[in-house]
Amino acid sequence: MTRLVARLLLAVMIFPTSILFFFILMVLVSGRGNPSLSEVVVVWATTLTYIGLYWLWLWRNSIRWTMGRVVATAGMSVGAIALGLAAYLVLRKQAQIPEEPAAILGGVVTPIAWVIGTILLWRENDRERAARLAKLSEATVACPLCGYNMTGLHDTRCPECGHHPTLQEFIASQHDSPDREMART
Ligand SMILES: [Zn+2]
Repeated sequence: MTRLVARLLLAVMIFPTSILFFFILMVLVSGRGNPSLSEVVVVWATTLTYIGLYWLWLWRNSIRWTMGRVVATAGMSVGAIALGLAAYLVLRKQAQIPEEPAAILGGVVTPIAWVIGTILLWRENDRERAARLAKLSEATVACPLCGYNMTGLHDTRCPECGHHPTLQEFIASQHDSPDREMART
């Protein structure tokens, strides 16, 4: 399994593990009785912190933290919390659902909105992708035998070790890493 595949599988696991985390906390906080509204709020705050840390840890090496992206992520996080509150109020007023179940259900909106928001904000834009691919192709033009950087040469003969592969051998040697293949997508 490549690292990228492992990370995608861990990404899929964020919601099931969050649900488990939420219910374990709920049982710990409220015991056998029905939870109070403040208990539900505390459990949600802790669960949202877990989700935020899990997601940031998972994608820590894949996000380019520009100033614009930091500000947008902070604003989007506030918006996701506001959406959860709005969902709570709709469930309370429109659907006449009691406080605690309305808080449990309404709170679900925040992590879903936040994770979708991070996917949209953290993915690389066209300029970042072009820069990454340019860097990648630069790095791959190397002698298959000694690794000498052959960028800009017109011949496959290595000036360092004298190895002279055919074009086919040369190209094949540049694409041997599955991680590198995945990085191109
Ligand atoms: Zn060489």
